[in-house]
Amino acid sequence: MTRTLFLLPGDGIGPEAMAEVEKLISVMNADENAGFETATGLVGGSAYDEHGQAISEDDMARAMAADAVLFGAVGGPKWDGVPYEARPEAGLLRLRKDMELFANLRPAICYPALADSSSLKRDVVEGLDILIVRELTGGVYFGEPKDIIDLGNGQKRGIDTQVYDTFEIERISGVAFELARTRSNKVCSMEKRNVMKSGVLWNEVVTATHKARYSDVELTHMLADAGGMQLVRWPKQFDVIVTDNLFGDMLSDVAAMLTGSLGMLPSASLGAPNPRSGKRKALYEPVHGSAPDIAGRGIANPIAMIASFAMCLRYSFEMVAEADRLEKAIAGVLDDGLRTADLMSPGMTEVGTAAMGDAVVAKYRALAA
Ligand code: NAD
Repeated sequence: MTRTLFLLPGDGIGPEAMAEVEKLISVMNADENAGFETATGLVGGSAYDEHGQAISEDDMARAMAADAVLFGAVGGPKWDGVPYEARPEAGLLRLRKDMELFANLRPAICYPALADSSSLKRDVVEGLDILIVRELTGGVYFGEPKDIIDLGNGQKRGIDTQVYDTFEIERISGVAFELARTRSNKVCSMEKRNVMKSGVLWNEVVTATHKARYSDVELTHMLADAGGMQLVRWPKQFDVIVTDNLFGDMLSDVAAMLTGSLGMLPSASLGAPNPRSGKRKALYEPVHGSAPDIAGRGIANPIAMIASFAMCLRYSFEMVAEADRLEKAIAGVLDDGLRTADLMSPGMTEVGTAAMGDAVVAKYRALAA
């Protein structure tokens, strides 16, 4: 069986973190006959330097054809002056748009060994495992009209439009309910139905989708502002949270920070299932950026990238046992006291990017034995 992965390491620490995932891929192919076939392309500033655009048409075609895309990070001061359409982020936005990645999955998992680096108390965050499912291609970031109008009286008016159609809410809530079934079987939907018409529709459609197809899953509704409070008050009450693009942007960042460093946070973005194969287009990436301040020094934390690959195993290849084992390996090296500089605390052992990757690989293999 062949599984195709298209790697887009990008800029800054992206390639350094991706190299650690490539080690894992080699080991899985050798030890487990996993059948991964990889190809590597350019995105962001590195693509601009080579092709004058943030991703080439060739690489777009390879991304579209792969079973899954692994993305590192893009950007850096070197490309601050490039034309707007060719700026590094344009590569990521093009991938999201052409692959129609409407569902963004952001887990917030608190590894026991890191519970003390959260800004919240240990008992509030220890063992936390929640998943925020954010609608990614609709809502106020894309709705029209979107403009700044000169009113002619010395005033201007800025306009953004929050707009959702039934099908968009149905498909994102369907993803949330399906994922909940593989976890603790609970979904909390968040919107602002008290003040927004799009929130009223969101609530109605989520409720109807639940009734029609997912009544075995426990569904609750919460106003998004109350949800923000509950996330920092008692986050362990949640399993899967489903919400729109704007609220999801903010709530997923709040949830992420419950768990400590930016270097730990993975994400996945999924499209609709292919009607023939049932497979969804998918892109996996760490939440962090290219970290130009530490790039090239071999000190970046590769765990967010490795954990993104664990999500890829789980969601693109149904390799659930391997994904569980990889996540356990990450927890294991942290339990052993290994820390990259971003996580370092007294009494721990500081390691660089490659040593952290090696340790995760070794633990992954040991857990198989
Ligand atoms: P950043 O995430 O790159 O870095 C923020 C801080 O966190 C820095 O101090 C950095 O050293 C640290 N950090 C981030 N990831 C780390 C890791 N894995 N290990 C250790 N430390 C880590 O955000 P920024 O500084 O705001 O942006 C830098 C560049 O990245 C900009 O060009 C920005 O546009 C781009 N960016 C890209 C993406 C993406 O590719 N998806 C996301 C965010 C920012």
